[in-house]
Amino acid sequence: MFIHKLYYFFFALVIVSVLLLAYNWHKDYEFDTNPLSQKLEKQIFEKKQQTRQLLRANFGFDLDVPLIISEKLPSSLFGAAVFTQDEKIIIYLNKKRFKESSDYMIHHVIPHEYAHAVMFHLKDFSKEQSGHSKKWQNICKKLNGIKCDRFVDTHDIIIGKTSF
Ligand SMILES: [Zn+2]
Repeated sequence: MFIHKLYYFFFALVIVSVLLLAYNWHKDYEFDTNPLSQKLEKQIFEKKQQTRQLLRANFGFDLDVPLIISEKLPSSLFGAAVFTQDEKIIIYLNKKRFKESSDYMIHHVIPHEYAHAVMFHLKDFSKEQSGHSKKWQNICKKLNGIKCDRFVDTHDIIIGKTSF
């Protein structure tokens, strides 16, 4: 009798585990094959508007930079600011990184990359600390960036062509 109960217990455990695994696979698959959720899209849009407001308040000008969610960024990059050959400024955000760290992407990466975009707009292409100069740090802080004074060596500014 006891053995039987144990058997059913483990049987149930296996079923639940398989279902959980299938659910997680499904969730990953959904994430990988679909655009970001509307909720996330909205959060990104709102963060961008806030950042632009801070830019206007602190520096007296506006800069509307497209934020493009891309799956083609190398996984080492959370985001990248690009100054294209025809002198357009674009921010790329790594879609894969939204899966486990959407808060980090919104509150940390967007102001960080926006500060690079502002540097491009001001035609400051300084390579000091891979683009994270004192001037950049100051802009990053004013845009409510987090940990702007830490040296980050992610090579996230790109001038010219990209394959994103
Ligand atoms: Zn950077």
